[in-house]
Amino acid sequence: MAAHPTGVKPAKKSVARLNPMDLFDVRSMLSEDEQMVQDSVGRLVDEKVIPLMREAFEQHRFPRELIPELAGLGLFGSSLQGYGCAGMNGISYGLICQELERGDSGIRSFVSVQSSLCMYPIYTFGSEAQKQKYLPGMAAGKLIGCFGLTEPHGGSDPGNMKTHAKRRGKDWVINGSKMWITNGAIADLCVCWAMTEDGVRGFIIDKGTPGFTAPEIHNKFSLRASVTSALFFDNVVVPEENVLPGVVGLKGPLSCLTQARYGIAWGVIGAAQACLAQLLDYTQTRVLFGKPLAATQLVQARLAEMARRITTAQLLCLQLGRLKDQGRMVPSQVSLAKWNNCRMAIDIARDCRDMLGGAGISAEYVPVRHMLNLESVITYEGTESVHQLSIGRELTGISAF
Ligand SMILES: Cc1cc2nc3c(=O)[nH]c(=O)nc-3n(C[C@H](O)[C@H](O)[C@H](O)COP(=O)(O)OP(=O)(O)OC[C@H]3O[C@@H](n4cnc5c(N)ncnc54)[C@H](O)[C@@H]3O)c2cc1C
Repeated sequence: MAAHPTGVKPAKKSVARLNPMDLFDVRSMLSEDEQMVQDSVGRLVDEKVIPLMREAFEQHRFPRELIPELAGLGLFGSSLQGYGCAGMNGISYGLICQELERGDSGIRSFVSVQSSLCMYPIYTFGSEAQKQKYLPGMAAGKLIGCFGLTEPHGGSDPGNMKTHAKRRGKDWVINGSKMWITNGAIADLCVCWAMTEDGVRGFIIDKGTPGFTAPEIHNKFSLRASVTSALFFDNVVVPEENVLPGVVGLKGPLSCLTQARYGIAWGVIGAAQACLAQLLDYTQTRVLFGKPLAATQLVQARLAEMARRITTAQLLCLQLGRLKDQGRMVPSQVSLAKWNNCRMAIDIARDCRDMLGGAGISAEYVPVRHMLNLESVITYEGTESVHQLSIGRELTGISAF
């Protein structure tokens, strides 16, 4: 081969052999059923979710028209058995979250709240009558749920709960308020956690119950395609049959959060993949200083860093999912995955936004929307600091909360 006139070998474009979104071929470690779930949800996201999300985000609107599509694939309460639920495993639930969040964190939040925070406590702690009454309608997307734990004075410290329920004859009377509640204003029912003289209890409160209001919180810069609300309880009378009989204490809501945080750890991988995929395209065609951005060492190092972190997050989730499906997953493992993966995704979204230059602030490109959404995702269901403290407690045996 003739020497190059400058003595420098011409740059060779190597053939990409690995899937840039799955460098360690995690896909090959999935069962056929799990792959089918990923494919069917992925198709729904590509065909129905992504085309809607930019406009929904700009209009600060939750796209309700997607509810029947989500229900049709069995995505509500997907891990529960019976009551019209699909009975899928934990890995499948994770893949559902990952594919949905590739579209938008708002859609994944909707499914997480419906499934992990509302259907899960009714399924796990509810009476048979409560399960029969609510779960089939929720699985079909005909009834929408919300989960009221956080209060205005401090969500990181749910033990300091001011919302309280007092017995009055055979009924309970609830007073107090909740803040930042996903789905609140569109929910048909709320699983509300309130302090009683025996400890924290869960109450199912139907929409329209006198004294219960759920005004939407407007003007958010994050999760604009998701409904977020305050909840107010002003002498709300709830019959005994609406109390979740199976749990007393904070372990009730915390066990729901473990399920939802597990889904978040998977979900944010999808948001990061959506950003990286767009950047891989953009840097091939954006020519600066006479060559595509993708041909510069600094850009390649930044892209490689993103791929490294996505790959690490994928492997973490795969193992977490296998532990979950073996019944061995514990909350501090979920904390580590939620913390690691949210930090990974928000860093990648911000870096992708930067690498798009001025175009990065336009809604034409997905990173800025994912970046803004991830500001909520890294905060809700336990902030980064709270998860660090929970891992610190696991390591030392000392609670520093
Ligand atoms: C869009 C959105 C949707 C949400 N959906 C729901 C929902 O459906 N249901 C629900 O119940 N809640 C929901 N939340 C609430 C969410 O879980 C809380 O916002 C979160 O737990 C943090 O609580 P906080 O906002 O009161 O912040 P605070 O608890 O006031 O925390 C403020 C800061 O203090 C830090 N901090 C707290 N404790 C310590 C400590 N010991 N040491 C050091 N730093 C500390 C935190 O990390 C944070 O940075 C949602 C929130 C958002 C933004």
